[in-house]
Amino acid sequence: MAFEGLTEKLSSAFKKLRNKGRLTESDVKEAMREIRLALLEADVSYKVVKDFIKAVTEKAVGTEVLESLTPAQAIVKIVNQELVSLMGGGSAKITIASQPPTVVMMVGLQGAGKTTNAAKLAGLMRKQNGKRPLLAACDIYRPAAIQQLEVVGKQLDIPVFQMGQENPVTIAEAAIAHAKKHGNDMVFLDTAGRLHVDEALMEELQAIKQAVQPSEILLVVDAMIGQDAVNAAKAFDDALDIDGVVLTKLDGDARGGAALSIKAVTGKPIKFVGMGEKLDNIEVFHPDRMASRILG
Ligand code: GDP
Repeated sequence: MAFEGLTEKLSSAFKKLRNKGRLTESDVKEAMREIRLALLEADVSYKVVKDFIKAVTEKAVGTEVLESLTPAQAIVKIVNQELVSLMGGGSAKITIASQPPTVVMMVGLQGAGKTTNAAKLAGLMRKQNGKRPLLAACDIYRPAAIQQLEVVGKQLDIPVFQMGQENPVTIAEAAIAHAKKHGNDMVFLDTAGRLHVDEALMEELQAIKQAVQPSEILLVVDAMIGQDAVNAAKAFDDALDIDGVVLTKLDGDARGGAALSIKAVTGKPIKFVGMGEKLDNIEVFHPDRMASRILG
């Protein structure tokens, strides 16, 4: 499971505090040192850790905390609150266009889970919001991408629009026209990815954005790649001004750095998390639930 190491190290730091009863400022400092190391080992960005520790310390050395009957518990509560705010506070929704269809552009590096999660999200929106989604195959480079989208579309019984190797901008525009004609009120654009961020890819994605003005650009990132996921998020956000993130593969043994750094580094919230390979393994991201899970 994700966050295992982090959960273990944090609970060990809290346990030491609990065993002490009354706390001194130096007890708190020692605990903060351990929490700091735990976060760094979980691959949380250096600056994010620094700011986090500063915020927790400021609240924790307040007289109320140290003089409370259960200071250790008070500190756990502060860490919990700061984790929630680090991940964006409340859960963030997809923006629905005032005039249908709502166009959601899925972007990300190859292998992050774009195709799978475009389908998962379309399925979720149908189930939770009664939407009638259309999937559009705009990745014309990876030979199997169109077929893969058709396979997942078929599994969920969601229509897939494709035009083979046609220009991605043309495909996106035609998909939206098709959706209007057939009563699909949401269109998910499965765009191309690359192994690394590159100029040509960003230009293509910018051209699609410009042409179709999506309601939502969601970046799909793989939680397993830690800091690289955060760097990718920064690059995609700089180029496209994304609206949010779908963090995938949280069912794996990701250390947690991406989940805890993305909002602080990009300012953009994680909106959904992928929790497995099955097409219903997607969840709305709730920072408070994630914080509780991290704290074990
Ligand atoms: P794309 O290249 O970005 O379109 O990525 P794909 O959608 O093809 O996904 C790459 C691989 O990751 C596939 O084998 C997916 O089944 C897998 N995958 C996607 N999301 C998740 C997830 O949340 N958990 C797990 N375990 N695997 C996932």
